[in-house]
Amino acid sequence: MTQNTSWKNVVKALENLNNSNLIEIEKILTIEINKLAQLIKSSGYYNEKSKKLKNLCGFLEMNPINELQKLEIEEVRDKLLSVKGIGNETADSIILYAFNKPIFVIDAYTKRLFSRIGICDKNVSYESLQRIFHNNLEGDFRLFNEYHALIVEHVKNVCKKKAICERCILTSLCNTVF
Ligand code: SF4
Repeated sequence: MTQNTSWKNVVKALENLNNSNLIEIEKILTIEINKLAQLIKSSGYYNEKSKKLKNLCGFLEMNPINELQKLEIEEVRDKLLSVKGIGNETADSIILYAFNKPIFVIDAYTKRLFSRIGICDKNVSYESLQRIFHNNLEGDFRLFNEYHALIVEHVKNVCKKKAICERCILTSLCNTVF
C-alpha cells in the first residue's frame, strides 16, 4: 500500500478500510474488488493494489500467520515471494515488522541515502545493498526495525530529491553535499 505514494495517503486508505470494518483477511477476500479499490483509492495504483491485497489475503488464509511465524527467514521469504504482486521490499517488510525477524528492508529511500553518502552505487541491486547491512550489523530485528525507520525519516525530511543539506547531520560523511 505504501509504494509510490505518501504515508498520508496510505493512512487515508487504511482509515477507509477500518471505518468499513474490513481489517480482516476474510472480509478483504469477500468484498468485491471494485469496492475495495475505491476504498484504497487515495494510496494510488488502487486497481493493482486491490488485486495484490486480495492475493496476499488469499495466501494468508492458506498459510496461517502463526505457522509462518515458526518458519526460518528464507523459508517464509520464499513463500511470500511466490505470491503474485509481492516483491522483495514487501516480503521483507512483512518479515521484519509483522514477524519480528531480522531482515533489513531496502527501499528507494535507503538506496538514495546510501548512494549519496558513497556506500553504494545509485543503481545497486536490492540484494547487494541488503548484504551490506547484514554483513555489518548484528542480526537484531529491533535494530533493523529502528534503523530502517530512521532512514525513512531522514530521507523524507532532509535528504529529499532536492536535499536540504544545511539541515543534515551527515555532511561530513557525504560525497554528494548539494
Ligand atoms: S548531506 Fe545532503 S545529500 Fe548528503 S546525506 Fe545529507 S541531505 Fe543527503
